[in-house]
Amino acid sequence: MDHIVIATDPYSARDIVKKIAHARAQYNALAQISFIQATIVVHDDLQFMPQDTSCWSVANVCYNGRYSALTIYKKWKSAKPIFRSWLLPGFAKPKNIYAQETYHHPKPNQNYFKAQKLIDKLQGIHNLWFVGLYTQDIDSHESAILSALKVGHKLAPACQRIALFGL
Ligand SMILES: Cc1cc2nc3c(=O)[nH]c(=O)nc-3n(C[C@H](O)[C@H](O)[C@H](O)COP(=O)(O)OP(=O)(O)OC[C@H]3O[C@@H](n4cnc5c(N)ncnc54)[C@H](O)[C@@H]3O)c2cc1C
Repeated sequence: MDHIVIATDPYSARDIVKKIAHARAQYNALAQISFIQATIVVHDDLQFMPQDTSCWSVANVCYNGRYSALTIYKKWKSAKPIFRSWLLPGFAKPKNIYAQETYHHPKPNQNYFKAQKLIDKLQGIHNLWFVGLYTQDIDSHESAILSALKVGHKLAPACQRIALFGL
């Protein structure tokens, strides 16, 4: 029997299962998750960084009186400082933009964690599985990898490489 593993962001997963008649419960679980339209820019505008360069960190918080958002700086990546900033409402755009993306960022609120529990209970029903950071704990690579390992373990319990993780 074939299995389907949906390994996307939660917004796309919800869109996909919406079209599957017997996945109403999974759709309802995913529909608990709400989103913000988040915009990310890659740039070199020093205004997004602390004036005192000795305070520059990998994660730098910019606060506009209402919202705070991160600017990420990985100094080992380039000779010239390049930053990645979240642009929130009221934030001015940086001067030199090298790349810009807008996407649906899940809100990690109570419903988000409620949805995780629901999805966990629904995993494997009708051979339908969900993988992605939103199915585990908080926003991180580790959550994404753990989600894949967990579903991989269910689908291939004899796999020795997955067993190494002690799931
Ligand atoms: C700007 C930004 C910075 C981040 N920085 C960090 C960080 O520093 N550290 C950290 O731990 N986490 C970070 N994250 C979170 C990061 O996204 C996750 O840790 C990781 O990428 C999640 O993996 P994932 O597999 O769940 O989702 P994704 O990496 O988003 O993978 C989902 C994939 O599904 C594909 N897809 C969507 N719809 C469909 C479809 N219909 N059909 C086929 N494919 C589809 C997408 O193209 C995408 O490739 C960051 C996220 C963002 C947006």
